Amino acid sequence: MSEAWEKLLPHLREMVDLAGAVKLMSWDQATLMPPNASPARARGMATVESIAHQHLINPEVGDLLQELALDDSLDQDQAASVRILKRDYDRATKVPPELVHELAELSGTAYQAWTEARPQSDFSLLQPHLEKMIRLKKEEADAIGWETERYDALLDEFEPEMTTRDVEAMFTELTEGLRPLLEKIVGVSSPRAEFLSKGYDPASQEAFSHWLVDVLNFDSDSGRLDTSPHPFTITIGAGDVRQTTRSEEKDLMMSIYATIHETGHALYEQGLPTELLDLPVGRAPSLGMHESQSRLWENLVGRSRPFTEFMLPHLKERFSAQLGMVNPDEFYRAANHVEPTLIRVTADEVTYNLHLMLRFELELAMFREELDVADLPNAWDAAMEKHLGIRPDSDANGVLQDMHWSNGIQGYFPTYTLGTIYSAAFFAKAQEQLGNLDDELRDGNTARLLGWLRENIHSKAYRYSAKDLAEQVLGAPVSAKPLLEYLRTKYSQLYDISA
Ligand code: ZN
Repeated sequence: MSEAWEKLLPHLREMVDLAGAVKLMSWDQATLMPPNASPARARGMATVESIAHQHLINPEVGDLLQELALDDSLDQDQAASVRILKRDYDRATKVPPELVHELAELSGTAYQAWTEARPQSDFSLLQPHLEKMIRLKKEEADAIGWETERYDALLDEFEPEMTTRDVEAMFTELTEGLRPLLEKIVGVSSPRAEFLSKGYDPASQEAFSHWLVDVLNFDSDSGRLDTSPHPFTITIGAGDVRQTTRSEEKDLMMSIYATIHETGHALYEQGLPTELLDLPVGRAPSLGMHESQSRLWENLVGRSRPFTEFMLPHLKERFSAQLGMVNPDEFYRAANHVEPTLIRVTADEVTYNLHLMLRFELELAMFREELDVADLPNAWDAAMEKHLGIRPDSDANGVLQDMHWSNGIQGYFPTYTLGTIYSAAFFAKAQEQLGNLDDELRDGNTARLLGWLRENIHSKAYRYSAKDLAEQVLGAPVSAKPLLEYLRTKYSQLYDISA
């Protein structure tokens, strides 16, 4: 085995262990930590994170990577790991330490300003921080470097090798297809089903979630399900994948679909090859690819007619007073109710991606110097009207609703839609290769589908970029067509319209 590789290996393991320590602290922070521990935890995490960062930018690691990039004795996984770590190393070392520090500090203060601005619906409290944030993120993008446009450098952090131009083309195709569909649906849409908000005991909802993750083949000996205000999934280390869900008394669907969504992420993590977990190649290639798994389970499986039919009797066992009289057709319709609303996180399948198109457009305009932060609230409201036909009643329900921008997370929003685009394309491919899955899903049997995802996606880890992996799975470059096709078919039946 290559000598340089032998020298790199202990560094890789230390980086994985330090990252695991930070992730465990952050999981605890979001689930069990008492509130008064907050300042000490923030400092503790910053300390461990900075030690981890020092490991990554260690010049010895840089030298080894340089040497290994030319080493043709490496096997495929070693070579991929060197390529991926070199990318991380380059991104981390190109940005001047002062700028890294300034951005970290600003993320804290801007986020704090956002937590005050949102409840007061007062954008002016956030504006100066956000102006500085956009300025520093431009500097960061320029330090990292880009060829066609600045936004590429930001997108690349979350979606390696995907370009702004790729995303724009797919988003435009998707939006142009979605808007006429939405208009027709809005024309015939009826109000949301009343039984959804009847009052559901949170403890019983959580018990249902535990049952549900089991049905979906989440391995509870190698993971946990807990609750947190914002559901998430995080891998602490090999054999330890933690997911969370949340429940709301007046919203039955919230916990069901948060649980299925996070289980999609968790199954992906549990399907990554164990022997690769210490290596940079042992992770998902992009956030969009990760989101493809959560969206596939949440929407293509979880909101399908057969799977809702499967869940209903099990829900009735726990909530007979609320659901006793509800039939499968009503339940399926309720799980797929479409209505343009102001808030992204609770949006339905048809409007969800329009919320993201809006964010992508505005982000892009700011980084192309076509939009000033001061004009952002008006631009937001106008874009909302253009895409969804409604206007926010306040900045709290408009431009101030997401924490991403104040937190220094620019270039992230497109990954949600890319994930959704991938999810529909993968599901169509799975059905093409496995045959129709409806009968199995009606029995709650998802083993064959999971097997297909394991073989075609999970087991590949980061051996290929998301774009290349998708192309391998699909036999052609990914496009928005399968998603549009799926939405048109499903919703023209549901709402009895021609698509
Ligand atoms: Zn997700």
